[in-house]
Amino acid sequence: MANETAISTANDTARNIGPVILLGPPGAGKGTQSKQIVDRYGVPQISTGDLLRDHVARGTSLGLEAQAIMARGELVPDELMYGIVANRLREADCQRGFVLDGFPRTAAQAGWLDAFLEEEVFDKRSEHSAPCLPVVIQLLVDYTQLLLRLTGRRSCPTCGRLYNIHFQPPLVDELCDVDGSKLVIRNDDREDVISGRLDAYETQTRLVTDYYRAQRRLVAVNADRPVDEITAQIFGVIDRHRQNGCDPMNGEARIK
Ligand code: AMP
Repeated sequence: MANETAISTANDTARNIGPVILLGPPGAGKGTQSKQIVDRYGVPQISTGDLLRDHVARGTSLGLEAQAIMARGELVPDELMYGIVANRLREADCQRGFVLDGFPRTAAQAGWLDAFLEEEVFDKRSEHSAPCLPVVIQLLVDYTQLLLRLTGRRSCPTCGRLYNIHFQPPLVDELCDVDGSKLVIRNDDREDVISGRLDAYETQTRLVTDYYRAQRRLVAVNADRPVDEITAQIFGVIDRHRQNGCDPMNGEARIK
């Protein structure tokens, strides 16, 4: 059994899966599901939130500009995002595919991404890898669940382990199971910031799903289920996408 698993993983990590876009509000599990895809297919996860936080931590001029905007729970201007994302997607590890987590967040970003992939990825790499339209997966979650996920989110500042005080609490209140560090709340997970983030999601990102839905490229997945079930569903969507020659999906399918 262990051998079979090893073989199937090896096969999966040799394949070109193309771009995978995960859409969903903050707290929908985009980060968790991205990591599952990374492990199975051996492609990088590109989280624009992480890229921005890295700029902030390094004190770059872009980071300084983005910091206040992020702390207010607003979206960083599209023009700043394009440079960051383009630089990252041009790196060699993106050649077989990648998972975008947190991008696109506006309809303009979605249009920019299509044009970028068409020009820079498909054209220049067509000899080495088959062109593949992005598979676009929307994670659907109930609003109340979402609030519990966001307000309950904690992380260990030492080892990075993630917890949720409502769903996956540490053994001892507010302390990391691994190293006993005091757990922290991410700056933009503070309650006063959350409503701003969800508002920004509602007003801006709805247009992104509209964009892909209009092109029949959106696959909706019910994300109010155990993580493993959602992951299995997503793997199925990605595998079928490739098998079908990366054709756009046959319309939106809400998978229960
Ligand atoms: P996240 O970790 O994906 O929730 O992102 C954290 C914050 O980074 C967001 O609240 C935004 O301020 C900013 N951000 C991340 N991705 C984008 C994006 N695609 N467009 C604009 N702002 C973004």
